[in-house]
Amino acid sequence: FERKKVVVLGAGYAGLQTIAKLQKLVSAQDCDITLINKNEYHYEATWLHEASAGTRAYKDCLYPVASVLDASKVDFVAAEVTKINRDEKTVETTNGTFKFDILVVALGFESETFGIKGMKEHAFQIENINTARRISAHIEERFANYAQSTGKDDKDLAILVGGAGFTGIELLGELTERMPELCKKYGIDPSKVKMTCVEAAPKMLPMFSDKLVDYVVNYLEARGVEFKIATPIVAANENGFVVKNGEQEEQLYANTVIWAAGVRGSQLMEESFEGVKRGRIIVRDDLRIDGYDDIFVIGDCSAVMAGEGDNKRPLPTTAQIAMQQGEFTAKQIVKLLNNDKLDTFKYDDKGTVASLGSHDGVGVVFGKEITGKKAAFMKKVIDTRALFKIGGPGVAFKKGKFL
Ligand code: NAD
Repeated sequence: FERKKVVVLGAGYAGLQTIAKLQKLVSAQDCDITLINKNEYHYEATWLHEASAGTRAYKDCLYPVASVLDASKVDFVAAEVTKINRDEKTVETTNGTFKFDILVVALGFESETFGIKGMKEHAFQIENINTARRISAHIEERFANYAQSTGKDDKDLAILVGGAGFTGIELLGELTERMPELCKKYGIDPSKVKMTCVEAAPKMLPMFSDKLVDYVVNYLEARGVEFKIATPIVAANENGFVVKNGEQEEQLYANTVIWAAGVRGSQLMEESFEGVKRGRIIVRDDLRIDGYDDIFVIGDCSAVMAGEGDNKRPLPTTAQIAMQQGEFTAKQIVKLLNNDKLDTFKYDDKGTVASLGSHDGVGVVFGKEITGKKAAFMKKVIDTRALFKIGGPGVAFKKGKFL
């Protein structure tokens, strides 16, 4: 009798939540569990806007994966997955090849630039903790340069943010919080700072009511953000973004250019499976994929369809759904090991909160709209709860948001 091999790819919200739950549900004799992740650490992907703006130190947004594992049950391999051989049931990594009986693919998101010319080369991406670190360091470096140089370049104080989705908005919220401090540090007149958000769609945050959208726009405009709505970005270059203004193309200038206008699932998805769109694969209602009873795909690489008939659409990719999928998957793995029938995944939408810096925000929680301090408080509860659910009280206490 050989123990079944369970292999989990990725230690983001989905993968690490799977492991956190699974190690509680099984004994060391039940199965072999291997977790494979590119880095030794897990980072809070939902805090990347804070690390990017520099309102939170990047180190406070991560913790060692090993610190939340039960080493008697889980082997942790820090390696990059390079190939998934779905039929051979193996996973190739930069640190060897691993066999699996049950596989959980939770490889997370990447930035999607839609092939826009120059975007990868000339714009920062909000993709992982390192890209976030680079953004905050770059902004500070530009401000320092402005303060020091004699022939002052106004572009040093200009920041362009592409996209007014949740990522763009939350980033702008943090940037408006960071600016006064940064200006003070370098003796810069805050009115010289220029933050511009460029959004292609005629309406931003379509999932929110007009009241909430107005709140967001008023908050950010009052703190110096200019919005260019219904203005698609068509290229990026060393000067900034090129946008479409009616039929005309217009160059927008800045020395800090950030793309926050699109994400996709991991590139490995297309290379490993069929029917993958933008790195996401439609999953069955038990989160396994068609034709493969031993492969679960969860988190940002999965598309959970909701709605009926022609209105069927994938649910948005969020940490909330990733964590629920992780818990669900852990329970299903136990069922698979016991040859039991699997359950149907039901997403429980508890709501959405977008932060505007650390003291303000907007959101819909349990169907009720909230703004201001209440929203900021709820957001901290949500963020700390995620730490607690995956890492337990130790991680929540060390990294949680209590103020
Ligand atoms: P998104 O795709 O939701 O938003 C991107 C925005 O960029 C859209 O408004 C789009 O119209 C715009 N855009 C696209 N191409 C453009 C172009 N060429 N020029 C100008 N604008 C362009 O991406 P996101 O904000 O990164 O969010 C990704 C996912 O993560 C979503 O599912 C979101 O709900 C989730 N998220 C949630 C939270 C939260 O709950 N607080 C925070 C961040 C992200």
